[in-house]
Amino acid sequence: MIAAEFDVFLFDLDGVIYLENELLPDVKLSLERLRQMGKIIRFLTNDPRATREQVTQRLRRLGLDVNEQQVYTSGWATIQYIQRRGYSSVFALGTPDFLSEMRSSLQQVRINTDNQPQAVVIGYDDDITMRQVNEAVQYIQQGSDFIATNGDTSFPVSSGRSLATGSLIRAVQAATGRRPVVIGKPSPVMFQIATEDLPANARIVMIGDSPETDILGAHGMGYTGILISEAPVTFPSKYDFRAPDVTIRNLSSLFDPAMTVVPWSKPPFPWPERVEPGVAAVVFNEQGDVLLMKRIDNGLWGIPSGHVEPGETVEEAIKREVMEETGLEVTVERLIGVYSHPASQVFSYPSGDVVQFITLCFLCRVDGGNIRADRKESAEVKFFNPAELPADMLPMHPQWLMDALASDFSAFIR
Ligand SMILES: [Mg+2]
Repeated sequence: MIAAEFDVFLFDLDGVIYLENELLPDVKLSLERLRQMGKIIRFLTNDPRATREQVTQRLRRLGLDVNEQQVYTSGWATIQYIQRRGYSSVFALGTPDFLSEMRSSLQQVRINTDNQPQAVVIGYDDDITMRQVNEAVQYIQQGSDFIATNGDTSFPVSSGRSLATGSLIRAVQAATGRRPVVIGKPSPVMFQIATEDLPANARIVMIGDSPETDILGAHGMGYTGILISEAPVTFPSKYDFRAPDVTIRNLSSLFDPAMTVVPWSKPPFPWPERVEPGVAAVVFNEQGDVLLMKRIDNGLWGIPSGHVEPGETVEEAIKREVMEETGLEVTVERLIGVYSHPASQVFSYPSGDVVQFITLCFLCRVDGGNIRADRKESAEVKFFNPAELPADMLPMHPQWLMDALASDFSAFIR
């Protein structure tokens, strides 16, 4: 029985607890049973329009015994985030309810009064004007931090789909070239705020109807993710963070004695948002030692690698990357292999981008240049004997080297 396997149950609201104004089947009884079992129950919604209190009232009107402390909206979580960051002045767009919740919770913070706010907060309201969005753009360009309540680009309404916060932030992103800190699911910020008072060993499960927000967010945190869906949802990769640990039709399945769930074990990489082509260079010197660089972002040693710029040939990309990272000029000899293992090729950048590379790995030979001190992307550059590689290497890179050594490269070194 799934209910017995966890201590904490985080529920999405829309599509899990209710749909429009109707409670979904078995919700009331299932929540009651969990409560009787002594489970901790919390509700996490990305909808930034209503206040925590309004959502609580709505759940009570639907007949559920819920208190305000169990409800986490992306708007409320954003307010907590602003408080913790210590901002004293923000420019915020959202519903009048969201703005009044913000004013009453953040009495020390000046809201929509300053000409140079420390942060811009974008939520959603049908009455937000293009003029206001443009004001946000100006502030962000002038250096304000960029925060969004949630990233959902649309949400379902009776006539189809409605624009949501995510579409607004894309407009601002396009105009400013900046990406926001997003608070709502799948961002860890919302989950951290909703679980920070729980014991570290609490067994937590997230139950939602969206693989892209509920399940992806749960898995990013290392929590089990249960999907509510009529049909099973599958993804091509066994590592896919969006793939639910189990799919159920409604909450009564939590008490099915025949059902269990294998807890999610988090792979050792963040979930990438896209896949891009990359290049890597196995560079040997005259002694047969291999060139490694210590990455600034994660402190791990690895083979020089990078991406192909638009209009660039693969060969040009390799030469440029090795030069930028080490200061050495190389000649490209031949292809060793094509790799896309996410453990070694998912990288998180300070911009917030998380990219998985498909890397074309080439055997190269040093042609000139010197290892220089003013390298752009590496903390340290050294040649290593392939039999004595550093312990803290990027996963899979030793394998690329083995592949290079397994083939005959003797012609390329003296
Ligand atoms: Mg939902």
